[in-house]
Amino acid sequence: MQVGFYRDTWVEVNLDAIEHNVRKMKKHIGEKVKLIAVVKANGYGHGAKQVAESALHAGASMLAVAFIDEAISLRQQGIKAPILVLGAIRAADIEIASKFDLILTCFSIEWLKEASENCESQGIHLHIKVDTGMGRLGVREEHELKEIFEFVDSSPYFQITGIFTHFATADEDEPSYFLTQYERFQQFLSVIDHEQLLVHCANSATGLKFPSKLYNAVRLGISMYGLSPSVEMKDKLPFTLEEAFSLQTKLVHVKKVPKGTKISYGATYETQQDEWIGTLPIGYADGWIRKLKDSEVLIDGKRLSLVGRICMDQCMVRLPYELPVDTKVTLIGEQKGQKISIDEVAKRLDTINYEIPCMISTRVPRTYLKDKQISEQSNPLLTNMPKES
Ligand SMILES: *Cc1c(COP(=O)(O)O)cnc(C)c1O
Repeated sequence: MQVGFYRDTWVEVNLDAIEHNVRKMKKHIGEKVKLIAVVKANGYGHGAKQVAESALHAGASMLAVAFIDEAISLRQQGIKAPILVLGAIRAADIEIASKFDLILTCFSIEWLKEASENCESQGIHLHIKVDTGMGRLGVREEHELKEIFEFVDSSPYFQITGIFTHFATADEDEPSYFLTQYERFQQFLSVIDHEQLLVHCANSATGLKFPSKLYNAVRLGISMYGLSPSVEMKDKLPFTLEEAFSLQTKLVHVKKVPKGTKISYGATYETQQDEWIGTLPIGYADGWIRKLKDSEVLIDGKRLSLVGRICMDQCMVRLPYELPVDTKVTLIGEQKGQKISIDEVAKRLDTINYEIPCMISTRVPRTYLKDKQISEQSNPLLTNMPKES
């Protein structure tokens, strides 16, 4: 028996879906454009290492994360591929980043000068970030961009290997702001020699919608996980995406209660008749937040409603009839042709699909499927279990 977890709530990640999405995207963007797999935030909640391995296997040539901690964690799990750190890192941490062979984002001349004072290693790879209208991180003027290139030219510590920008509205139907940013990026590129550089501006939305505007790399995040970058784009995707993430639990207690029985904190739900009530071992500490009160789950291919408040570790569901303990319950995913999608949960919470897998906490173990078989289980709570003989 594989020691994975002792609790009947788990995320299932279909790595075949990740590979499918990467392969389809590669085909869509063409031979000459590289694919950078974005695995920040623990691979959008799916598991950074496992997603990275699948993406690389399917043809990604680089990984991207937000912070160096995420990159170091990947290195410590044996990932050797190039890793780009998209976010700002402390200038003081330049040596640790170099030690783990990371590609860093240079977003201002001030950062570059300060970082160079902390350098011992030579030839640290940089991608220069330019701000073309996102207002988040990056160089805003051509003169600063030129200054960065001149500084690096005369510095032994750095080597510029890429330049990039990020779009604020690529996922929206109206293209004018996107085009303004795209033109601004072209202006920046016109003042430097970028012949040898990795030049990238595309997130998932841009990669899907504008395959002729990609320069030579795409940073693929949300759609690698099988999700549409926006509701607007959902019906206009150039190929079918496969959702990789599902969330499962099981009935741990089933009981028949009489009409008028109160359920959960606050006693806000009262049974309207004799009812079968099931208890699920998942709660808001797992990311199944209290706002999901009254949301639906799938049991035996049927949509059933949660009742009463969601507790920290448990919640209750109203059953149509007696069901055995251990019956599988799907909170996100498919059962017998019925589906609760991540988009449905996002809509219920009035947010975007990106947020949903990210909010399922690390207390929930992840199970990985490859060729429909369990290939790996991960549970950060139990990393030091004795080996079974
Ligand atoms: C997160 C991120 C991406 C990925 O965007 P998706 O919309 O998920 O494809 C790309 N580039 C940068 C700079 C990011 O921060």
